[in-house]
Amino acid sequence: MEKVTEISSLGEFGLIDRLTRDFPLRNASSILGVGDDAAILDYHDHKTLVTTDLLLEGIHFDLRYVPLRHLGYKSAIVNFSDIYAMNGHPRQITVSLGISSRFTVEHIDELYDGIRLACQEYGVDLVGGDTSASVTGLVISITCIGEGEEGKIVRRSGAKPTDLIYVSGDLGAAYMGLQLLERENRVAAQSPDNKFFEPDFTGKEYILERQLKPEARRDIVDMFAQYDILPTAMMDVSDGLSSELLHICKASGVGCRLYEDRIPIDYQTAIMAEEFNMNLVTAALNGGEDYELLFTVPLAMKDKVDMLKGIRMIGYITKPELGAALVTRDDQELPLKAQGWNAFNH
Ligand code: ADP
Ligand code: MG
Repeated sequence: MEKVTEISSLGEFGLIDRLTRDFPLRNASSILGVGDDAAILDYHDHKTLVTTDLLLEGIHFDLRYVPLRHLGYKSAIVNFSDIYAMNGHPRQITVSLGISSRFTVEHIDELYDGIRLACQEYGVDLVGGDTSASVTGLVISITCIGEGEEGKIVRRSGAKPTDLIYVSGDLGAAYMGLQLLERENRVAAQSPDNKFFEPDFTGKEYILERQLKPEARRDIVDMFAQYDILPTAMMDVSDGLSSELLHICKASGVGCRLYEDRIPIDYQTAIMAEEFNMNLVTAALNGGEDYELLFTVPLAMKDKVDMLKGIRMIGYITKPELGAALVTRDDQELPLKAQGWNAFNH
């Protein structure tokens, strides 16, 4: 039988010790980690970047189909992604938890296994947190601290008319993965006697991985440094391409043209959209949770940027008067709308 340890048997401090013991400090900027009243960090002459995310059970995640280990990994990754989106590098996180009584020590261990893996893979130190009981399920708040080089930090506000718009990877896959998981969960709920219900996910591994175990695009930020490329504006795609592109336009005071036929979409995403009878482009534009990087570069850098692997030019920045529009396959211009992932919850 699975081991079940009540959290009360360890107590708050016992739990914190157990959760934080296998997190060696890897960064020179982490002077003091867990164990005192505050962590000590030293960024010398670099700028400090700070980002935080709050995840509530039932709102941001559903434990019926998200394993705790994946949840831990993803909670950390989404924060790293925000730091990369500034052209910076994540270095430390703090993790705060609200834990309701249905969770055991083993559950929280699993969550921390995922957080530990993310920290290992991205070279980030866990330097603190807070732990409390909760009456409403699991609450996870992660704050990430990172560093950026003076003059190389990229905001949303620097895009200029004639700049080209690029995005890394492909879009809409995480959203289609979520649709698939939700459908299988509904099917399972409707056949209670079928205890051995095992959904067949063959051929759908990619979209599931994009939903359950996303990665942050450190590789893109490293390529920028390697090839001496500095985007004029950048952000990560967490709420859907349309919404993010509109954020860049607003912050930069510009308009844009996005080519429908250039939006990168994986084959499995397309197959799944067809199975669900959904408009593929709408899913790719509004699905969210892609954690890809959306950025703009001056036209003069085109040849250099085009040599980078895994990114694609999807449009260009215009003067503000021209507004933000999607250029369809038949050359029509539709106003770009931000539906975000919320609008998809039908
Ligand atoms: P305080 O009384 O100052 O809030 P705590 O007793 O809550 O301190 O925490 C003790 C140490 O453990 C601190 O360094 C804190 O940052 C760290 N910590 C507490 N909870 C967590 C957690 N869930 N994950 C990581 N570190 C934690
Ligand atoms: Mg505390």
